[in-house]
Amino acid sequence: MTELTATELQTLTDRLTRRRQDLLAMIQAGASDAGHDNLRHIAGEVADSGDESTALQQTDLNLAEMENEVRELRAIDRALERVKDGTYGSCIECGCHIPYARLEAYPAAERCTDCQTRYERQYGGRDVTPSL
Ligand SMILES: [Zn+2]
Repeated sequence: MTELTATELQTLTDRLTRRRQDLLAMIQAGASDAGHDNLRHIAGEVADSGDESTALQQTDLNLAEMENEVRELRAIDRALERVKDGTYGSCIECGCHIPYARLEAYPAAERCTDCQTRYERQYGGRDVTPSL
Protein backbone atom coordinates (compact mmCIF):
# COMPACT_ATOMS: atom_id res chain seq x y z
CA MET A 1 0.00 0.00 0.00
CA THR A 2 1.55 3.29 -1.05
CA GLU A 3 0.68 6.85 -0.15
CA LEU A 4 -1.23 8.99 -2.61
CA THR A 5 0.82 11.04 -5.04
CA ALA A 6 0.20 14.79 -5.23
CA THR A 7 -1.58 14.30 -8.57
CA GLU A 8 -3.86 11.57 -7.19
CA LEU A 9 -4.68 13.69 -4.17
CA GLN A 10 -5.46 16.67 -6.42
CA THR A 11 -7.72 14.54 -8.66
CA LEU A 12 -9.66 13.23 -5.67
CA THR A 13 -9.90 16.65 -4.04
CA ASP A 14 -11.30 18.11 -7.28
CA ARG A 15 -13.88 15.34 -7.46
CA LEU A 16 -14.88 15.85 -3.83
CA THR A 17 -15.24 19.59 -4.39
CA ARG A 18 -17.34 19.14 -7.55
CA ARG A 19 -19.53 16.50 -5.92
CA ARG A 20 -20.00 18.82 -2.96
CA GLN A 21 -21.27 21.59 -5.25
CA ASP A 22 -23.65 19.16 -7.02
CA LEU A 23 -25.00 17.93 -3.69
CA LEU A 24 -25.49 21.45 -2.37
CA ALA A 25 -27.43 22.36 -5.52
CA MET A 26 -29.59 19.21 -5.20
CA ILE A 27 -30.26 19.82 -1.51
CA GLN A 28 -31.21 23.43 -2.18
CA ALA A 29 -33.52 22.37 -5.03
CA GLY A 30 -35.03 19.65 -2.82
CA ALA A 31 -35.56 22.09 0.02
CA SER A 32 -37.43 24.54 -2.19
CA ASP A 33 -39.56 21.66 -3.57
CA ALA A 34 -40.47 20.63 -0.04
CA GLY A 35 -41.28 24.23 0.82
CA HIS A 36 -43.54 24.42 -2.19
CA ASP A 37 -45.40 21.23 -1.20
CA ASN A 38 -45.93 22.56 2.30
CA LEU A 39 -47.22 25.85 0.99
CA ARG A 40 -49.66 24.05 -1.26
CA HIS A 41 -50.76 21.97 1.67
CA ILE A 42 -51.30 25.00 3.86
CA ALA A 43 -53.15 26.80 1.07
CA GLY A 44 -55.53 23.84 0.98
CA GLU A 45 -55.09 23.28 -2.73
CA VAL A 46 -55.03 19.54 -2.17
CA ALA A 47 -58.69 18.83 -2.70
CA ASP A 48 -59.37 15.26 -1.55
CA SER A 49 -57.58 12.95 0.88
CA GLY A 50 -56.34 10.68 -1.92
CA ASP A 51 -54.29 13.47 -3.43
CA GLU A 52 -53.11 14.50 -0.01
CA SER A 53 -51.58 11.15 0.83
CA THR A 54 -49.83 11.05 -2.54
CA ALA A 55 -48.44 14.49 -1.85
CA LEU A 56 -47.29 13.41 1.60
CA GLN A 57 -45.64 10.26 0.23
CA GLN A 58 -43.85 12.41 -2.30
CA THR A 59 -42.61 14.68 0.48
CA ASP A 60 -41.38 11.66 2.47
CA LEU A 61 -39.53 10.43 -0.59
CA ASN A 62 -37.91 13.82 -1.09
CA LEU A 63 -36.93 13.94 2.57
CA ALA A 64 -35.38 10.47 2.41
CA GLU A 65 -33.47 11.47 -0.70
CA MET A 66 -32.36 14.71 0.93
CA GLU A 67 -31.24 12.82 3.99
CA ASN A 68 -28.97 10.66 1.84
CA GLU A 69 -27.63 13.74 0.10
CA VAL A 70 -26.97 15.50 3.40
CA ARG A 71 -25.22 12.40 4.75
CA GLU A 72 -23.02 12.23 1.67
CA LEU A 73 -22.31 15.96 1.94
CA ARG A 74 -21.16 15.49 5.54
CA ALA A 75 -18.91 12.60 4.49
CA ILE A 76 -17.41 14.82 1.78
CA ASP A 77 -16.87 17.65 4.26
CA ARG A 78 -15.07 15.24 6.57
CA ALA A 79 -12.96 14.02 3.66
CA LEU A 80 -12.02 17.60 2.72
CA GLU A 81 -11.13 18.25 6.37
CA ARG A 82 -8.81 15.26 6.23
CA VAL A 83 -7.22 16.62 3.05
CA LYS A 84 -6.44 19.78 5.04
CA ASP A 85 -5.09 17.77 7.99
CA GLY A 86 -3.00 15.64 5.68
CA THR A 87 -4.71 12.48 6.93
CA TYR A 88 -6.82 11.94 3.81
CA GLY A 89 -6.38 8.48 2.31
CA SER A 90 -5.64 6.85 5.65
CA CYS A 91 -8.17 4.48 7.15
CA ILE A 92 -9.80 6.10 10.22
CA GLU A 93 -9.90 2.70 11.96
CA CYS A 94 -6.53 1.06 11.37
CA GLY A 95 -4.56 3.94 9.84
CA CYS A 96 -3.45 1.99 6.77
CA HIS A 97 -3.39 3.65 3.36
CA ILE A 98 -6.66 3.19 1.51
CA PRO A 99 -5.96 1.87 -2.02
CA TYR A 100 -6.31 4.52 -4.74
CA ALA A 101 -8.80 2.34 -6.67
CA ARG A 102 -11.14 2.46 -3.68
CA LEU A 103 -10.78 6.22 -3.27
CA GLU A 104 -11.33 6.66 -6.98
CA ALA A 105 -14.66 4.81 -6.67
CA TYR A 106 -15.57 6.52 -3.37
CA PRO A 107 -13.49 9.65 -2.80
CA ALA A 108 -15.16 10.14 0.60
CA ALA A 109 -14.15 6.65 1.80
CA GLU A 110 -13.01 6.77 5.42
CA ARG A 111 -12.04 3.17 5.89
CA CYS A 112 -10.05 0.54 4.04
CA THR A 113 -12.06 -2.30 2.55
CA ASP A 114 -11.42 -4.61 5.54
CA CYS A 115 -12.48 -2.06 8.13
CA GLN A 116 -15.49 -1.02 6.04
CA THR A 117 -16.67 -4.63 5.81
CA ARG A 118 -16.26 -5.04 9.57
CA TYR A 119 -18.04 -1.73 10.20
CA GLU A 120 -21.00 -2.74 8.02
CA ARG A 121 -21.23 -6.10 9.73
CA GLN A 122 -21.15 -4.44 13.15
CA TYR A 123 -23.64 -1.66 12.49
CA GLY A 124 -25.70 -3.29 9.76
CA GLY A 125 -26.68 -1.68 6.50
CA ARG A 126 -24.36 0.38 4.41
CA ASP A 127 -23.18 3.92 4.73
CA VAL A 128 -22.29 6.23 1.86
CA THR A 129 -18.92 4.61 1.31
CA PRO A 130 -19.67 0.92 0.74
CA SER A 131 -16.78 -1.51 0.48
CA LEU A 132 -15.70 -2.41 -3.02
ZN1 LIG B 1 -8.57 -0.09 7.99
